[in-house]
Amino acid sequence: MALPPNAADAARVLAEVSPARHFIDGQFTEGVLGKRFQTVNPATNEVLAEVAEGTAEDVDRAVRAAYRAFQEGPWGRMSGKERARLLNAIADGLERHGEELALLEVLDTGLPIAQARGQAARAAENFRFFAEMATRMTGETYPVGDTFLNYTVRAPVGVAGLITPWNTPLMLATWKIAPCLAAGNTCVLKPAEWSPLTATRLAAIIRDAGIPDGVFNVVHGFGETAGDALVRHPLVPLISFTGETLTGQTIMRNGASQLKRFSMELGGKSPVIVFADADLERALDAVVFGVYSLNGERCTAGSRLLIERSIQEEFEARLAERVARIRLGDPLDPATEVGPLIHAEHRRRVEGYLDAGVAEGAVMRIGGPVPEHLARGNYVRPTLFTGVRSDMRIAQEEIFGPVLVSIPFADEEEAVRIANDVRYGLAAYVWTRDLTRAHRVSARLQSGMVWVNSQNVRDLRTPFGGAKQSGIGREGGHYSFEFYTELKTVHVALGQHPIPRFGA
Ligand code: NDP
Repeated sequence: MALPPNAADAARVLAEVSPARHFIDGQFTEGVLGKRFQTVNPATNEVLAEVAEGTAEDVDRAVRAAYRAFQEGPWGRMSGKERARLLNAIADGLERHGEELALLEVLDTGLPIAQARGQAARAAENFRFFAEMATRMTGETYPVGDTFLNYTVRAPVGVAGLITPWNTPLMLATWKIAPCLAAGNTCVLKPAEWSPLTATRLAAIIRDAGIPDGVFNVVHGFGETAGDALVRHPLVPLISFTGETLTGQTIMRNGASQLKRFSMELGGKSPVIVFADADLERALDAVVFGVYSLNGERCTAGSRLLIERSIQEEFEARLAERVARIRLGDPLDPATEVGPLIHAEHRRRVEGYLDAGVAEGAVMRIGGPVPEHLARGNYVRPTLFTGVRSDMRIAQEEIFGPVLVSIPFADEEEAVRIANDVRYGLAAYVWTRDLTRAHRVSARLQSGMVWVNSQNVRDLRTPFGGAKQSGIGREGGHYSFEFYTELKTVHVALGQHPIPRFGA
């Protein structure tokens, strides 16, 4: 196991990204107005670094650089193989600096170090995966006897605006950047204001990998200003957004007049259905990990446990024991399982849900105040609510923290009804040993993804995305290219097909 980082390591990685500046046309730069904001350490609420505050002018500079790189530079015209070589060089850089990136992510987001290391490794994997995909882009042919040969080709679209949230920011940014660049587009990334640091380090890694200037740009700042300017910019035809459903709605409205293409990865309230015949030992592990990992700040978190009534008492008792023992603490400690939430404002939001749950009559089986020595950070104790009804706010709304609600069901019919009884439809998890039931229930769940007898294990070739208000579109594998490329059909006449002779 890697050693825990010490204060000197932390100071060193912070010095490399402080102040966190924009990255435009291959250069780190302050904003036009020279304004900055601060990012804080969620474990202490101390200031970590100053960050350039982007304005519409900064976004315009970045978009124009990306547009020039797309129109005039070599990127869009390179072969897939050549782009793949450079994407693999980025992956090498991410691996070389993996430990440092993980540390930066912990300092900026409060993710436990053991989990941040996994996220850093996945960031490199995203580039390797889409490097390979870049070499495999194909079209289709539609021969029409000896009269026509029709075929399709995929071409890059142009400048993509990539807007990312504060949870697992490095991994999520690379999940967009890698396919975007693999397809031959250029881009401007607007990272979340609460977690800007790994994006800054990533820009240096991308530059050092030899990606041409202007292909990748970062503008820091606030969603309502920098993010909005990116969404409204006329030279940006593609917007890939991950974040809250409400923000997604605003962004779609603001880009609608220009008919932009959107990919929307939004919120979730995913059910984990545990039937009495399931392997309960493994189901228990998956339920606990599924909601409390990544501090509960995970779009695919299994935040609603639906438990068959006949095993409810026993399962909830064992669950309570486990939740009470989860190690809450310093995210730099490799033994920590749950760290502080991203920001004091978010902690207050999550605490608001805890109060709402109690007020609505749910039982806070495990939870309560955090220990005194953690009072400086944005910690929330891993919480388990039982006696929950599906119409309660804690069962309907995305809490995005370490909070699990447990709802009993009598039979399969009721399980499916409760599972579908929310506006979201991102992920769902089903635990049963009955093979036919597993397929039957999966078919009836209104969600973009279902895992059967499994925690959230991702195969990067499969489509990722949500149904209902959890999103629009799918990313992953060749599905990413459906968003990041323009599909063109070429019709070629092979012979003398009839052409009506008007005015002859
Ligand atoms: P937000 O929607 O608040 O913000 C996401 C990004 O959008 C941030 O960069 C934000 O900037 C920016 N933004 C805000 N307003 C605008 C605007 N008007 N125009 C353009 N950009 C804007 O989400 P959070 O950061 O709070 O992230 C948590 C949410 O993300 C949860 O709902 C979670 O479920 C979802 N999510 C979904 C995933 C999925 O794949 N489905 C994966 C991960 C998270 P700023 O930081 O300044 O506010």
